[in-house]
Amino acid sequence: MYSPCSTIYTTTLPISYHTNNSSDLFTNHPPKKIQIRRSIVCLSSSIKMSTTAGQVIRCKAAVAWEAGKPLVIEEVEVAPPQKMEVRVKILFTSLCHTDIYFWEAEGQNPVFPRIFGHEAAGIVESVGEGVTEVQVGDHVLPVFTGECKECAHCKSEESNMCDLLRINTDRGVMLSDGKSRFSHNGKPIFHFVGTSTFSEYTVVHIGCLAKINPLAPLDKVCILSCGISTGLGATLNVAKPKKGSSVAVFGLGAVGLAAAEGARIAGASRIIGVDVNPDRFELAKKFGVTEFVNPKDHNKPVQEVIAEMTDGGVDRSVECTGNTEAMISAFECVHDGWGVAVLVGVPHKDAVFKTHPMNILNERTLKGTFFGNYKPRSDLPSVVEKYYMSKELELEKFITHEVKFAEINKAFEYMLKGEGLRCLIRME
Ligand code: NAD
Ligand code: ZN
Repeated sequence: MYSPCSTIYTTTLPISYHTNNSSDLFTNHPPKKIQIRRSIVCLSSSIKMSTTAGQVIRCKAAVAWEAGKPLVIEEVEVAPPQKMEVRVKILFTSLCHTDIYFWEAEGQNPVFPRIFGHEAAGIVESVGEGVTEVQVGDHVLPVFTGECKECAHCKSEESNMCDLLRINTDRGVMLSDGKSRFSHNGKPIFHFVGTSTFSEYTVVHIGCLAKINPLAPLDKVCILSCGISTGLGATLNVAKPKKGSSVAVFGLGAVGLAAAEGARIAGASRIIGVDVNPDRFELAKKFGVTEFVNPKDHNKPVQEVIAEMTDGGVDRSVECTGNTEAMISAFECVHDGWGVAVLVGVPHKDAVFKTHPMNILNERTLKGTFFGNYKPRSDLPSVVEKYYMSKELELEKFITHEVKFAEINKAFEYMLKGEGLRCLIRME
C-alpha cells in the first residue's frame, strides 16, 4: 500500500530554496485540529514545506522551447502562488494526446516556450491569499478545466464549462495578473491549460484542483485527472447508454478505452472498438470491447460497416480520436430515432464537421464534452472513491509504461508510435 506519510516526508524538499522564518509554520495547517496519523503526515510536510512558502522555488521542469523539438530539463524559477492560487509539488504526471497536439503545434496555435503537462497528481506546497479549501500537505489532482463554483455553468447541473476557468489552450499566463509563475534565467515561460505539470512544482488556480482522499495512490489516480475521467464521463454522463445497448468507441487509446469501461459499467451488451491501429485490438479486450473494426479493412465508410453489423446503427457512440473523419463517422453510425454520438477528441483548429442535416432530422443527437462533464472540484474526489477505491475501475491496466522525469521524451515517443496507453512519469 502506498504510504502518504513516507512519500510526503521524502519528497517535499525542492532542489534549492530560500530561507524563510518559521512564523508561518502552522498558519496554514494547525495540527491540533487533525487526528494523530494525519497530523504526522501534515506536520512533517508543514515543516518541510513551510520553508519554501512565499519564496521562489528553483526546481526542474521539462521546457518545450520550440514546437515539435524534444523537451529540455531545465532549472526554472517557480514564483509563489498569488490570490486564489496553490503551488503544488508534482509527484507523478503522464502524457495525454492533447499535450502532443499543442507541442507539435501543427493544427494548433504555437505558444512557446511552454511547460506542458495536465494529467498529474501532487501535494500542496503552499497556498495563496484567499485559499481555504486546501492546506499544505493535501493530496490534489490538477485539472485542465476549472470550476469557480459561482458562475451560471458551475451552478447548473448540466454543465462543467465554467465561465472563469474553462479550458483555454492559448492562454499561457495566470488569470489574476496575466503573468506566468515560471521563469528561466528571469525570462517567463508560458503555462499550459493552467496546469503545467511537467515541472517539479507548478502553480494552479484553486478552481482547477481536486482535493482527494490521501489514501488514494497518487501514481495510479494521477491518470484520473484527465484521460480516464474524460472517457468514463463521456459515456456515463453524456452518452448514457442503457443496459443491454450497443456502443461504438472510436479511438482505442486511454481515453477511448476509458469510454469503453464506462459502457461496460453501464451494462452495454455490445462494445464495438474502432481504430486504425490494429495493435490496439488485443489490448482493448481487457477493457470490455467485444468487437473490432479497422476502417482501413473496408472499402466503404465505417459508418456503413457499423450500420450493417447492428441492424441500422449503434445506440451510442463515443469518439476519442481528434480526427474529423472519425467524428463524422461516429455521428453517422448511430441509429436514427434514438442514437446519441459524443465527441471527445480535440480537433485541428481549422477543422470543419460536415454532415447532411437529414442525419440530424432523423432524430440522431450529436453532443460533445470536456472532461466527461465532470466538475473537477465537486466531482473528481468522488470519481476517485467510486471507481478506483471501490475497485470498479482498474487504473493499473491503463499504465503500460513508466519513465523517470529525466526521460520524459520517451513518453512522447511511445505516444507518437501508438505504443501502449499511458506512460507514467515519475518526478523523482
Ligand atoms: P491516443 O493517441 O492514445 O489514442 C487515440 C487513438 O485514436 C489511437 O489509438 C489512434 O490509432 C486512433 N485513431 C486516430 N485516428 C483514427 C481514425 N481516423 N479512426 C479510428 N481511430 C483513429 O490519445 P488519447 O490520449 O487517448 O486521447 C484521445 C483524444 O481525446 C485526443 O484527441 C485527445 O486530445 C482527446 N482528449 C479530449 C479531452 C476532452 O476533455 N474532450 C480530454 C483528454 C483527451
Ligand atoms: Zn488530457
